[in-house]
This record gives sequence, C-alpha cells and structure tokens, in this order.
Amino acid sequence: MDKTMNRRAMLQAAGLMTAGTVAGCALPVGASDRVKTPFAVAQTLVPIVGSSEMFPVRRIYCIGRNYAAHAREMGSDPNREPPFFFQKPTDAVQYVAPGTTADHPYPALTKNYHYEIELVAAIGKGGRNISIERALDHVFGYAIGLDMTRRDLQRGMGDQKKPWEIGKSFDRSAPMGPIHPVASIGHFEKGTIWLKVNGQQKQNSNLQMMIWSVAEQISKLSEAFELMPGDVIYSGTPENVGPVVAGDVMEGHIDRLPNLSVRIV
Ligand code: MN
Repeated sequence: MDKTMNRRAMLQAAGLMTAGTVAGCALPVGASDRVKTPFAVAQTLVPIVGSSEMFPVRRIYCIGRNYAAHAREMGSDPNREPPFFFQKPTDAVQYVAPGTTADHPYPALTKNYHYEIELVAAIGKGGRNISIERALDHVFGYAIGLDMTRRDLQRGMGDQKKPWEIGKSFDRSAPMGPIHPVASIGHFEKGTIWLKVNGQQKQNSNLQMMIWSVAEQISKLSEAFELMPGDVIYSGTPENVGPVVAGDVMEGHIDRLPNLSVRIV
C-alpha cells in the first residue's frame, strides 16, 4: 500500500471512529450498513409474536442459582448469596418455533449434558442503576428458554476456580421460543414452570419461587452493566436439573406461553 492510500484509509478509519459511540469502536446503530467488511457476520434475530418485526438480540445475561431448592442442589446456601450473573454469546440462541420440535445436537466434550428450563425477559429500553420499582418498564417481552449446560465442564472449572464459560457459553446453548410483547401478554410474577423429558416430569415449580424477581434482576444487573435494548435475561432454573442424551425429547412449559420442544440428536 502506498503512502497516499495509507493516509486515505487512516482518514476513513478516523471518520468512522468519530462516528462511533463512546462504547469502544462500536458503530452507531444502522451505520454498519454503510461499512464494507471482508465477510458478513450474522445477527441474532428472534421472532416477535403478533408482529412482522424481529427482536435483535444484543447480549444474553443469565442469573445463577435463583431458586432456593436449585441453589441447594448445586451445593450452595440460598440465604446468603447475592445474585450473580454470567453471559452466553448472542449466537448461542437456537430459535424454536412453537408447535415444532427442534433438533439440538449433543455438544462436544461433555458426558453430562443438563437442561435448565427458564423464563427469559427481553429488554426494550436500556438504562443504568434502574430502580426495582421502574425495572419492569424496561421489559419488551418474554419467552421460554433453556439454559443448556455442560455440567461436568462447569463443575470441573468451578472446582479449579476457573471461569465456567466452557460449561455454559457454547454454540446453541440457549434454545428459546418467540418473544411475546408485554403489551399483549403482561408480566410474569407467578405461574407454573416445568420441564418433561420423553413425557416424564423432571422440573416442576412456580415463578414465584424465584429468589430474585425479574424486576430485581434488572435493577441489580443495571448496577454492573448499562442495559441496552436487545439484551435478554435468562431468569434462572428451578430444582431437579438433570441429564439428557441423544434421542431424548425435552418439553418445557411456562403458564401463558406456548411450550418449547427440543430433541437431542
Ligand atoms: Mn440457568
């Protein structure tokens, strides 16, 4: 590259940087349409019920040990633990249309692959230090989801005091149904949540059993991170998590949402 070209490229880059947001090099929403890239990177989009629009997923947050009985089965004391969060990569989403059973490949490296059925809250309005009282105003809608977990890898890393990412944050680890807007479905403070494997009941609880409500989760998360539209929050799983193997069909349920059906292949 000659010096003229180099200078031009630098000026273009500087122009883009100026146009960027304060958040590192990220371009403003919509600006990427005008930028040439050497290859395309897929955006994660989830259908919105009753709309032709799709929900663009920005980040996936998950809360850990948010039902007391599940916290106990994981070996911790639910009474003394403040909420803690981890993330999955955005492209971990595997969309599952209601009325269908999605094939979900058994992942690499694990011999103990676990289901965790969870309510998912989708954020439509961002913010920092959001009060518990105003937190639900930030919710766009809700979905049913699975926080699939390579339990042996998660535990192994935990035992070594290493990040448990490999157990939680891998390809297709976040199956989820469509997003139901609050405008049509309201909020979810109570309601049955269950999971069956091959028709047999495994998990069975109520959203009321959450230690930290969705509103409290949003408030707490927003102290640590600026929440943005497109963020989704997996709100934790009840007790009796367990393994699945190839051939198993999982059916998840949350009152007022269509069931989620996934087959391990
Ligand atoms: Mn979970």
